[in-house]
Amino acid sequence: MGYMHLGLLDIHEALIKNKVTPLELVLEAIELAKKGTNNCFEYICEKEAIEKAKKLDDSKKDNILYGIPIVVKDNYSTKDIPTTASSNILKDYVPIFSSEVVNRLEEAGAIIIGKTTMDELGMGGSGSAGHLGTTYNPWDKTKTHRIGGSSCGSASAIASGIVPLAIGSDTGDSVRKPASYGASVGLKPTWGRISRFGLFPFAASLDHVGYFTRSVYDSAAILNVLAGRDEKDYSSSFKPVEDYTKKLNEPVAGKRIAVIKEIVDAINDQDILATFKNNLEQLRQRGVVIDFVSIDYKLLKAIYPTYIIVSSAEATSNNANLDGVKFGLREPGKTYEEILKNTRTKGFSKLIKRRFIIGGYSLLKENREELFVRAQKCRRLIVDAFNSVLDKFDAIYCPATPTVAPLISSNLEAFIGDYSIADDYMAFANMGGLPSITLPLGFKDGLPFGGNLTAKAFDESNLFNLAQAIEDSTGLKDLVAKEDE
Ligand code: GLN
Repeated sequence: MGYMHLGLLDIHEALIKNKVTPLELVLEAIELAKKGTNNCFEYICEKEAIEKAKKLDDSKKDNILYGIPIVVKDNYSTKDIPTTASSNILKDYVPIFSSEVVNRLEEAGAIIIGKTTMDELGMGGSGSAGHLGTTYNPWDKTKTHRIGGSSCGSASAIASGIVPLAIGSDTGDSVRKPASYGASVGLKPTWGRISRFGLFPFAASLDHVGYFTRSVYDSAAILNVLAGRDEKDYSSSFKPVEDYTKKLNEPVAGKRIAVIKEIVDAINDQDILATFKNNLEQLRQRGVVIDFVSIDYKLLKAIYPTYIIVSSAEATSNNANLDGVKFGLREPGKTYEEILKNTRTKGFSKLIKRRFIIGGYSLLKENREELFVRAQKCRRLIVDAFNSVLDKFDAIYCPATPTVAPLISSNLEAFIGDYSIADDYMAFANMGGLPSITLPLGFKDGLPFGGNLTAKAFDESNLFNLAQAIEDSTGLKDLVAKEDE
């Protein structure tokens, strides 16, 4: 039977009642990880995890994470454990320190059983852009549909029942989109709420720690563990941490939700629309006030290009340290410039090079005003538009994705020039640093799709409270697509 397909709270109860031990859980998770056929792992920490489970200090037994096997995306530094961000340029890199997220998880008693595959350095959303190739969606046994990315391995590991908590990162939607395709709960809290120390930067002003769980309760409970000031990340917030589980079940009557009309109008899938509208009705029955609100179509259409310019510019600058000298791969060369050129030519994939070219081009002296500065101004207009909606509402709610998981044969980077505003709109929450959560809404032909809820900065308690009402109304939680089904 096993435990790994359950939610965190259920596994925690089994541990407390001594029905199972941390070592048994770790062995179960490692066996599932090894048997898995979805290409979720860069590295399975078998030896390390077994050792940790044996030595685990049971004074931490009350913590929800005590003895729980988890996975971490491969762009988090893990001391003595290979960390590649799924890039050839970091081949064989073994960090000498752990990220703050990893430290806090381990201090709470969690046991990392693996580092998960991702789109190289966090860029791209296909789940096919890492150096180990495509990561599969466990809901599709024919392996023809994507799980999405960039946190593909984490999304696939939780959806396939290997672990009940999977850490990802979210710069544009990299947790919240694969959560929609994988029927899990994907959260990125407010920018600054969780320390980014030791998370490889992709675009620092947009990067967020995020994670996947199987229920809203689990998501809130994990924020209790991870949130809070960290002296090692000066951009982390000083705001006091709340108990995020406390208000989960408070009544939602009188709360106000805005649905962005233009985003819903851009969705063609009638089943997704019908399920979403049905859920709005269910929320109304709980007393939630729901209004359809308009945002200027031009601004919504500008989200994707603005995101691409700002994130590529920051990525170009942030990743300049990957020079073939400091870490990972080093190609031969007689001078520093030659080593740098040869290493970066070999170490990065085409997608990364394309992003660096976009970033470098928009930062050139002669282009900067027209591209980078204009994109920053546009970012401000986008954030102002969404914030002015949030001035009047508790949250913004829309389908997370306009479709179920796309086919692997579809080329996701090819749609520049012809893209739907419903496809990449969730990046507005990264631009504004707003807390945002995706949770399951329904299934179509066996493939899941989710809804996405976004609240004001540092208003996570309210976000969880509304998300709980959605979860209660759909009844969709603890969803797992088992390998053998
Ligand atoms: N799809 C976005 C991109 O390609 C999201 C990436 C992310 O959130 N890390 O950059």
